[in-house]
Amino acid sequence: MGQPSVKVRIETLQPTASLLAEQLQARLKVRYAVVLLIAVCLSMTALAVWESWNSRHYHLHDKEVAMSNLAQTLASQAQSTIKQADTMLFTLVDRLEKDGAGQAPFSRVQQLLVAQRSELPQLHGLFVYDENGRWLVNSNGASVPQSNNSDREYFVFHREHPERGPHIGPSIKSRSTGEWIMTVSRRINHPDGSFAGVALATVYLNHFLALYDGIDMGKNGAISLIADNGNLQVRRPFNENDIGTSVVNGPLFTQLLPYASSGTATIKSVIDGVERVVGFRRVEGYPLIVSAALNKQEVLAAWRQESLNSATIVALLLAILGTLGYRLIRVMKQQNRVQNELLEAQEKLLEINHSLELLALEDALTGLANRRQFDLFMLAEMGRARRSQSMLAMLMIDVDHFKLFNDHYGHVAGDECLRRISAVITESIQRPGDLAVRYGGEEFAVVLPGTDYVGAFLVAEKIRRAVQQAGIVHSEGIEGVVTVSLGVCAYDPASQAKADDLISAADKAMYVAKASGRNMSVIAN
Ligand code: GH3
Ligand code: MG
Ligand code: MG
Repeated sequence: MGQPSVKVRIETLQPTASLLAEQLQARLKVRYAVVLLIAVCLSMTALAVWESWNSRHYHLHDKEVAMSNLAQTLASQAQSTIKQADTMLFTLVDRLEKDGAGQAPFSRVQQLLVAQRSELPQLHGLFVYDENGRWLVNSNGASVPQSNNSDREYFVFHREHPERGPHIGPSIKSRSTGEWIMTVSRRINHPDGSFAGVALATVYLNHFLALYDGIDMGKNGAISLIADNGNLQVRRPFNENDIGTSVVNGPLFTQLLPYASSGTATIKSVIDGVERVVGFRRVEGYPLIVSAALNKQEVLAAWRQESLNSATIVALLLAILGTLGYRLIRVMKQQNRVQNELLEAQEKLLEINHSLELLALEDALTGLANRRQFDLFMLAEMGRARRSQSMLAMLMIDVDHFKLFNDHYGHVAGDECLRRISAVITESIQRPGDLAVRYGGEEFAVVLPGTDYVGAFLVAEKIRRAVQQAGIVHSEGIEGVVTVSLGVCAYDPASQAKADDLISAADKAMYVAKASGRNMSVIAN
């Protein structure tokens, strides 16, 4: 069978592409919604983390500033405390060097020391030692001739060093009173510049501790007064064992003080291993450093609480947003599913419609195009021929003496005969553009686009011979077999002819063939 049964293009039978596009769009919408939801959740989380990180920085910075200010205040306090004692020592040394070391000056000096000590509450005592470390005079008034302090650090220092400046020694426990003290001392020279002894002022560590304890440093804060050789002079919280401990290998001395005489940092304590926010400062004029430090964990505790609160709020918002978003996406998916089902149903309907359309365009008995398709095809091909100025031919075919065939062999055989003739016609036309049609009862038509009279006549004759050669027995027919008569007509694009004119011309030619004896092809004039 040469030809596909339907040659007419029907626009309404092409819906699949737009349906697919709609499905794709719906799926994309869901995807966009998912991406949007994830993006919003991630942004909120990122914002909360960023905010929390900033707040942490702010908390630490705030305390760093506070510690820096405190270190400055404590450094001035230490400076003025020591300066007061040192000023006395300076006056004392000056006096002793000018007056010489006689018994009379000593008793005057003794009175002076007693008087001056009572002026300064931080002062534990004022002492003068000769070049052998013997206790010459002291502010407590008691003369202790046997006492010898030549082994003390300050004594050894001044004996070895000719400098005249003040010296601050390590904190010690007083031999006279058993209390913790800090020593400030100056060297006394003979007129020839040789070592004549030491003037010593001792300051209560309690004087510092009382002040340090009065400052709110949290549970685990620390304040330290440190000699610039790294030894602890005083530390709050006070622990006897800490005094004299060297922190010279700690981060304060290795990382901070080499570069700045004051500053802030977060460092780990050498003493107790606790990480603290530290403010530090060198004491002006004296080899001392003050550091004030708050426990980092305590500083961050407030921040932690704050962060926890905002994290809870953000988590709650995320949960609400996530739930709503999830529901929305589910609804969208459901909608898509319903839409898909509808689309599938629509597609099925269209398929059915398509089949119906095909049925409506096909002849049920022969499978050839029916009259309706012929009309549509003719309309389209005539238009095309006119536009492209090409030829268009058609054949009208009628079975000879078919009434007699029916009468003789019956209608069932008649139908079978029509089917065989259809097959012969279909096989005889070769071009894919040609169309074979069952025009009416036992009448057929063939449309041959781009074919002129000559070509059409050749096709007509081919069909005629083929039908005859098929040898369908027809005892009443011409030469005992079924034959056909054909009318041939071609459309001239130059003419104004319509489809009906062409059909009627072919029909007329076919009747001429009938009248002329049947089983022949006649060209319309
Ligand atoms: P002519 O050579 O002049 O065409 O003679 P004819 O007998 O073919 O003339 P006519 O056109 O008058 O007869 C057509 C007959 O075709 C009438 C009808 O019995 C028969 N016929 C038409 N349609 C069908 C059909 O679908 N099946 C069958 N079996 N017969 C049909
Ligand atoms: Mg007829
Ligand atoms: Mg006939």
